[in-house]
Amino acid sequence: MSRPRRVVIIMHQKPDADAMGSSLGLSLFLRKLGHQTTVISPTNWAEWLKWMPDCAGVIDYEFSTEKANAVLDQAEWIFCLDFNTLTRTRHMAPRLRKLPVEKVLIDHHQQPDSIFAYGISDTEKSSTSEMVYDLIVESGHAGKIDIDIATCLYAGVMTDTGSFRFPAASPAVHRMVAALEDTGMNHTKVFENLYDNFLENRLRFMGFVLQNRMEIFYEYNAALIAVPWKDLVRYEIKTGDTEGLVNYPLSIQGIKLAALIIDRDEEIKCSFRSKGDFDVNTFARTYFEGGGHFNAAGGRSADTLEVTVERFLKALIENSSQLQ
Ligand code: 5GP
Ligand code: MN
Repeated sequence: MSRPRRVVIIMHQKPDADAMGSSLGLSLFLRKLGHQTTVISPTNWAEWLKWMPDCAGVIDYEFSTEKANAVLDQAEWIFCLDFNTLTRTRHMAPRLRKLPVEKVLIDHHQQPDSIFAYGISDTEKSSTSEMVYDLIVESGHAGKIDIDIATCLYAGVMTDTGSFRFPAASPAVHRMVAALEDTGMNHTKVFENLYDNFLENRLRFMGFVLQNRMEIFYEYNAALIAVPWKDLVRYEIKTGDTEGLVNYPLSIQGIKLAALIIDRDEEIKCSFRSKGDFDVNTFARTYFEGGGHFNAAGGRSADTLEVTVERFLKALIENSSQLQ
């Protein structure tokens, strides 16, 4: 990329801090090299991501479809960050499939689609933000990482490693964090912006569903939280408010698999988390049209909440030997 290019950076629907942080970090970096960049999200995103540097410039594809399509049509390069299957871009997918321009993948999920011309897909990496950091450093531009870029990348790596507790928080991740700290970035502020920045209703909602919607299946070392649409309405739950909920059952002794099934009205969304050797990527792919990582994956269902829960329970029985 020696001459200035029109670059579009896209991420997965309902982006998390890694999708948003890696995309903004890459965008800010490429601008420093003289490129013109636009970041597009397939859908809206959580309030608690809006503090991120340059987040206000991100286009919501569902909300500003025409504007986004015009930018996409002009793109010379499209970077696809933190997803590896076009279905994760929701209503953008048909448009992206048709666009003749090269799509460059930067992602750490398992089993990428074959439509990406170039890129890096590395499931060993903690986060897409780490991969963007590596790209910047390996291209000889480490000196271009300023506080804003560092802040975006730190937000992504911190959240995707569960605040540096997952095995993927390697020595290289910690060395990267040290380098980001050297820019003057404030990690305490990043943590507070992400985790101490909710409204009261979200915490009340969490309390309600943990009390009323969580079932534990000790015979399968599994737990399920199934949330009906009416709960989301009652607690005025917005995009991103349910993030983290699926992790709570894993804090119970012996639980190896936690599932969260939410009726979002427009679709049933499933999230799976595991501890140890139970592979939720395969589980989500097999039963819920999804995928992700070995210990964290998601999917969806076209059935009702009740039928989806029944299907989950059947899947538990089928996987009972791996859950022992
Ligand atoms: P979450 O449960 O937080 O939505 O997602 C957990 C992980 O699985 C994330 O890394 C996310 O990118 C991935 N994931 C979530 N939903 C899907 C899906 O429907 N398809 C695929 N392939 N991956 C998903
Ligand atoms: Mn990620």
